[in-house]
Amino acid sequence: MCLGCGRRAPQHDLVRFTAVVREGALVVVRDHRGDLGGRGLYTCRARECVQRALERRAFARGARAQVTAGAGLVDEVGDGTGVSS
Ligand SMILES: [Zn+2]
Repeated sequence: MCLGCGRRAPQHDLVRFTAVVREGALVVVRDHRGDLGGRGLYTCRARECVQRALERRAFARGARAQVTAGAGLVDEVGDGTGVSS
Protein backbone atom coordinates (compact mmCIF):
# COMPACT_ATOMS: atom_id res chain seq x y z
CA MET A 1 0.00 0.00 0.00
CA CYS A 2 1.20 3.48 -0.83
CA LEU A 3 2.02 5.61 2.22
CA GLY A 4 1.07 8.72 0.29
CA CYS A 5 -2.33 8.02 -1.21
CA GLY A 6 -3.24 4.71 0.35
CA ARG A 7 -3.57 3.02 -3.03
CA ARG A 8 -3.28 -0.71 -2.92
CA ALA A 9 -0.96 -2.09 -5.56
CA PRO A 10 1.38 -5.01 -6.05
CA GLN A 11 4.73 -4.32 -4.44
CA HIS A 12 6.54 -4.45 -7.77
CA ASP A 13 4.36 -1.56 -8.83
CA LEU A 14 5.48 0.57 -5.93
CA VAL A 15 8.77 2.12 -4.85
CA ARG A 16 10.33 0.47 -1.83
CA PHE A 17 11.92 2.50 0.91
CA THR A 18 13.32 1.25 4.17
CA ALA A 19 14.94 2.70 7.26
CA VAL A 20 18.64 2.12 7.72
CA VAL A 21 21.04 3.27 10.41
CA ARG A 22 23.23 6.13 9.25
CA GLU A 23 25.53 7.78 11.74
CA GLY A 24 23.51 6.52 14.65
CA ALA A 25 20.12 7.58 13.37
CA LEU A 26 17.43 5.79 11.44
CA VAL A 27 17.16 7.30 8.01
CA VAL A 28 14.70 6.43 5.28
CA VAL A 29 16.39 5.56 2.01
CA ARG A 30 15.16 4.17 -1.25
CA ASP A 31 15.74 0.46 -1.49
CA HIS A 32 16.63 0.31 -5.15
CA ARG A 33 17.27 -3.39 -5.35
CA GLY A 34 14.93 -4.51 -2.62
CA ASP A 35 17.74 -6.12 -0.66
CA LEU A 36 18.19 -3.76 2.27
CA GLY A 37 15.82 -5.70 4.47
CA GLY A 38 13.92 -4.12 7.29
CA ARG A 39 10.34 -3.10 7.17
CA GLY A 40 9.36 -2.07 3.66
CA LEU A 41 7.86 1.36 3.19
CA TYR A 42 6.11 1.71 -0.12
CA THR A 43 4.82 4.55 -2.24
CA CYS A 44 3.66 4.91 -5.82
CA ARG A 45 6.25 5.95 -8.38
CA ALA A 46 5.01 9.49 -8.05
CA ARG A 47 6.63 12.49 -6.45
CA GLU A 48 3.28 13.62 -5.07
CA CYS A 49 2.89 10.41 -3.12
CA VAL A 50 6.36 10.63 -1.59
CA GLN A 51 5.73 14.27 -0.78
CA ARG A 52 2.43 13.44 0.86
CA ALA A 53 3.97 10.59 2.82
CA LEU A 54 6.64 12.98 4.09
CA GLU A 55 4.08 15.57 5.11
CA ARG A 56 1.98 13.03 6.91
CA ARG A 57 5.02 11.50 8.60
CA ALA A 58 3.81 8.27 7.15
CA PHE A 59 7.31 6.87 6.89
CA ALA A 60 7.75 7.01 10.65
CA ARG A 61 4.36 5.43 11.15
CA GLY A 62 5.11 2.73 8.60
CA ALA A 63 8.50 2.02 10.10
CA ARG A 64 7.07 2.15 13.62
CA ALA A 65 10.16 4.04 14.65
CA GLN A 66 11.56 7.53 14.93
CA VAL A 67 13.01 7.95 11.47
CA THR A 68 14.43 10.79 9.49
CA ALA A 69 12.90 11.13 6.06
CA GLY A 70 14.52 13.91 4.08
CA ALA A 71 12.85 15.93 1.38
CA GLY A 72 15.40 14.46 -1.01
CA LEU A 73 13.37 11.27 -1.09
CA VAL A 74 11.02 13.00 -3.46
CA ASP A 75 13.79 13.07 -6.04
CA GLU A 76 14.29 9.34 -5.67
CA VAL A 77 11.20 8.59 -7.67
CA GLY A 78 10.12 9.43 -11.16
CA ASP A 79 8.06 12.21 -12.55
CA GLY A 80 4.64 10.79 -11.94
CA THR A 81 4.46 8.26 -14.71
CA GLY A 82 2.87 5.06 -13.62
CA VAL A 83 0.27 6.72 -11.43
CA SER A 84 -3.20 5.46 -11.96
CA SER A 85 -5.77 7.38 -10.07
ZN1 LIG B 1 0.32 6.78 -3.98
